[in-house]
Amino acid sequence: MSHYDKLRPSADLQFCDCKELRELLLVHRLTDNPVHCFACNGALDPQRLGLSSKQVDMVSSWHGQFQALYSLWLDCGEYEAWAKVQLLKRDGQVNRDGLAAVAALSALLPTYYWWFHDESDPEPLCCPVCGDKLSASRKHGHGQCDACQVVI
Ligand SMILES: [Zn+2]
Ligand SMILES: [Zn+2]
Repeated sequence: MSHYDKLRPSADLQFCDCKELRELLLVHRLTDNPVHCFACNGALDPQRLGLSSKQVDMVSSWHGQFQALYSLWLDCGEYEAWAKVQLLKRDGQVNRDGLAAVAALSALLPTYYWWFHDESDPEPLCCPVCGDKLSASRKHGHGQCDACQVVI
């Protein structure tokens, strides 16, 4: 990433080219599209998925909040600690809206929510939603909870 990329649209979006989609992942990747293929990690065009306008609205309203908090956290300024608290709060609005968007997308295909984790914190062992022990990661993050549809 060059210094100038901060003021450029993200052009290197990798799209999913799997023949058959099985599972989705809702994840903020510093791009405008947070709906990804669980298997290959590629972005998915909302038209390919045939998302309803309600599903699109739920995803984009969650993503706007997550993106804003994430960039405040990355910025290491006055709002860094505050933003991290919001991103980690189990019942905070960003995570409530994220899980609601995951539930809406799961009407199409089983969807997982990528929960925020600061890699400088200890490795997460328990699900941030239900508190049960995480099962081994199949592909993303440190582990996952299938009951809550969360990866972390
Ligand atoms: Zn894929
Ligand atoms: Zn759980």
